[in-house]
Amino acid sequence: MGFDLIIENGSLVDGTGAQARPAAVGIRGRKIEAIGDLSSAESARKIDATGHVVSPGFIDVHCHSDGALLNDGQHAEGVLQGVTTEIIGPDGLTYAPLPRDKYLMYRQYLSGLLGLPPKDLDFSSISSARLNYDRKTACNVAMFLGHGPVRLNAVGMQDTPLRDDALKRAVRVMEEAFEQGACGFATGLSYYPNSFSDSDELVQLCKVAARSDKTFSIHTRNHNTDRAFAGGGVEEALEIGRRSGVKVHIEHYRTSADNAGRVDEILEPVEKAKADGVDVTLETYPYPVGSGYPLAHFPSWFHEGGTDAMLSRLADAETRAMLIRELESRDSSVLHSYSWTWISSSHNRHLEGLSFADAAAARGVSIEEMICDVMLEERLSCGLRGNPPQSAQLWRAVEEDVMTLLARPDYMVGSDAIPVGGLVHPRAYGTFPRVVGRLRRRYGYPVEQVVQRVTQNPARRFGLADRGEIREGYLADICVFDPDLINDLSSFEDPMVHPVGIPYVIVNGELVVDESKCTGVLAGEAAETV
Ligand SMILES: [Zn+2]
Repeated sequence: MGFDLIIENGSLVDGTGAQARPAAVGIRGRKIEAIGDLSSAESARKIDATGHVVSPGFIDVHCHSDGALLNDGQHAEGVLQGVTTEIIGPDGLTYAPLPRDKYLMYRQYLSGLLGLPPKDLDFSSISSARLNYDRKTACNVAMFLGHGPVRLNAVGMQDTPLRDDALKRAVRVMEEAFEQGACGFATGLSYYPNSFSDSDELVQLCKVAARSDKTFSIHTRNHNTDRAFAGGGVEEALEIGRRSGVKVHIEHYRTSADNAGRVDEILEPVEKAKADGVDVTLETYPYPVGSGYPLAHFPSWFHEGGTDAMLSRLADAETRAMLIRELESRDSSVLHSYSWTWISSSHNRHLEGLSFADAAAARGVSIEEMICDVMLEERLSCGLRGNPPQSAQLWRAVEEDVMTLLARPDYMVGSDAIPVGGLVHPRAYGTFPRVVGRLRRRYGYPVEQVVQRVTQNPARRFGLADRGEIREGYLADICVFDPDLINDLSSFEDPMVHPVGIPYVIVNGELVVDESKCTGVLAGEAAETV
């Protein structure tokens, strides 16, 4: 019996870190059936990969495309980078499991980050959420159980740590979610309701994750730090690992403009925790600044009660004044360093791409007042990104650190893509070709090593069954790229540009990218976990 597809004459980089070798890959149905010399085999289609690397498809461990995938399953910005599996729900910001009324509230709450997917979707369980994506997207989707939905089920949008009956409710939600295939437990402690928690709550919840052998993915705390072990940050995350026994995964952990070049320093607490027996992995994206939504800068009390209560607070003159005073006293230097990436209404859309300083000046108000006005006008559906450093030298130093970190076997890549808006952060379009192409070449890392970090490493860490390697019997998720040409083209000035040098991407045996173009085939599945 012949094959459906043979990729021949390429250099096989199988995802394990093993030396590249010449070998053809034969695919039948969804699976890799043969690897080796297939020159005499019959096949419905053959791809000549001369001069190209044939690798497993890339796995993005941190992607905020929960909503975008539901509005456009084609997911061109992901699959054209060679990404075949997206892990959604990082930072604990996701829709499942939520009953309908809570989904509608949280959909609006998260809209600055996740956009506005259809209202009439069933997110009441992880199983039903998986069906919203299964064979409806071009890439595979794996999902974290989010701390946000867990808390919303237990106590709603309330500022109280989970104890007693509320904790029991949360534990039941978690056990069911892991049974239904959630690939880990994620929180982000700059966000709500997650930041209403304290460290003791997280230890209890992480014990549940540990019992199910699931990894705990954390965006470390900078809100309500008085409730945290060691004042929050990476120390809290590691201490939760020590006390609960959970496997810890630290999100977007790298140096920045302030501490470029000091990789050893940021890794010191990690090494110490590892010496104590904590199982730790980490991730990074290859850019010097991040992206998000303005809510992350608002004080804890503002978020209580959820979307409607927050909008009432923004509309009330007295509360608004109090909010502005608090923002001015805390975050002013940070808030000055942002630009708008997306704005939901056509009325305000001209703000996309404008720095906060320019947007405020145009309205003749302070930056803090401008943010409050725009959030109310847009009903929270607005997002931001950092402005990159002026100094190219500083930028290069952070990038070099990123590659130093990725040389470690405990690192992987999470794009932290937020693919909504007209002037998004370039990481949504460029992360993987930037690492596998531009930066690998610039800093001279072996392609086998870099590919392992974005394929086998994440598949193992998050228990993605039969993915992340080119191996007989595994699912045929494959990326064919030119190692000399693969490159990102998205920039801060012009972010929504697809990369080059990745002519073929295969998901579950089907071509979703053929000759560098999306085929329209929605071959992605809700990824099974082990
Ligand atoms: Zn994120």
